[in-house]
Amino acid sequence: MQLNLFDASALKGKRVLLRVDCNVPLDNSGHVSDDTRIRAHIPTIQALLQEGAQIALASHLGRPKGKIVPKYSLKPLIAPLENLLQKKILFCETCLGEKVEEAMQKRSGDEVVLLENLRFHPGEEANDPSFAKALAAPFDVFVMDAFSASHRAHASTEGITAFLPSYAGFLLAREADFLSQVRDHPKKPFLLILGGAKVSDKIGVIENLLEKVDTILIGGGMAFTFFAAQGFPVGASLCERDKISFVQEMMLKAREKGVEIILPRDILAGTTPEAKSKEMLSPESIPDHLMGLDIGPETAKEFASKISQASTVLWNGPMGVFENPLFAEGTKAVALALAEVTSKRGATTVVGGGDSASAINAFHLAQEVTHVSTGGGASLEFFEGKILPGIAPFMKTETI
Ligand code: ADP
Ligand code: MG
Repeated sequence: MQLNLFDASALKGKRVLLRVDCNVPLDNSGHVSDDTRIRAHIPTIQALLQEGAQIALASHLGRPKGKIVPKYSLKPLIAPLENLLQKKILFCETCLGEKVEEAMQKRSGDEVVLLENLRFHPGEEANDPSFAKALAAPFDVFVMDAFSASHRAHASTEGITAFLPSYAGFLLAREADFLSQVRDHPKKPFLLILGGAKVSDKIGVIENLLEKVDTILIGGGMAFTFFAAQGFPVGASLCERDKISFVQEMMLKAREKGVEIILPRDILAGTTPEAKSKEMLSPESIPDHLMGLDIGPETAKEFASKISQASTVLWNGPMGVFENPLFAEGTKAVALALAEVTSKRGATTVVGGGDSASAINAFHLAQEVTHVSTGGGASLEFFEGKILPGIAPFMKTETI
């Protein structure tokens, strides 16, 4: 999917409002504890600065719900932005009105203006046209780079495009390109790896991709709803009884379409997700007091072998409770197999989902796969086949 990208050379001296997603985690003392989301926008910011655009950054942080809540101020972003860009940041206490106009006049050279949290105003999430118009007023051009907010039709992601010439930034374009390659034009064999907590979070993705994949590997908490659907006792494992009939229908549909579904053949179990010891079990016989918390070593081997034969791999959802090192091995084995098939076979490997991205980052393997999406909810909705409201305005007509 090709998006209408900004042409930096045409933006010299122009005032550009750049929507980023710097909704970063803060530690107890209010400092940014993980700057991954900020880093993802640096290439777009730098390209605009190089051509002499006058930039203001707009973002949300947390859920202040339309009110000014000081703990959700964007001030903590000043230091990491200055550090990553090696430029001065001029902070503006609001994202609207005269103060923004003043800040844009006051800025000099390649100083970057950072506007205060968009969500301090109710008009942002309500996608109020008068708010979007006011947000647009001090600017000549809008550039949208916040892929991870693109599933929300908010004033700063969608509404504003009615009031300014609008273009996609590098990150938004890159996400749309890689995710659509996998979703719309996967090279076969196409393997889908699903894990994570719940079947219910991934129903839309399963329904959409069942039409396209050759094989699905199922791990994580969701595997136990599949075992329950086959009548196995799942002990204290995560299990969504109300999704059993969906799972049964899905298994039938997969069989009709010739899609292979592979469930774990061995399981690592413990008494709680924080357990300090583990037991290896067959999935047919999980006792009442234990919960399945990771795929076992035989499953990890089988999954790795399947991954090694694929040309396209989409991975969404960890294979176990990887936050506990005792139950991280399955997730790590899958991450390593993805890295290997990328380098050895030239496969396209894409990781979607917030926790899956954290896992592959924690294993230092994010650079070894084709693409790790920065959008948790946005990538899920993309794989459900939806046209995201924050992407639609930038799609070239032939791709709609
Ligand atoms: P993503 O954010 O990548 O889409 P999810 O949010 O669906 O992934 O799931 C991630 C969570 O699933 C992790 O916090 C992990 O601890 C949990 N999880 C994985 N396997 C299990 C399991 N067997 N039992 C309980 N929780 C699990
Ligand atoms: Mg998650």
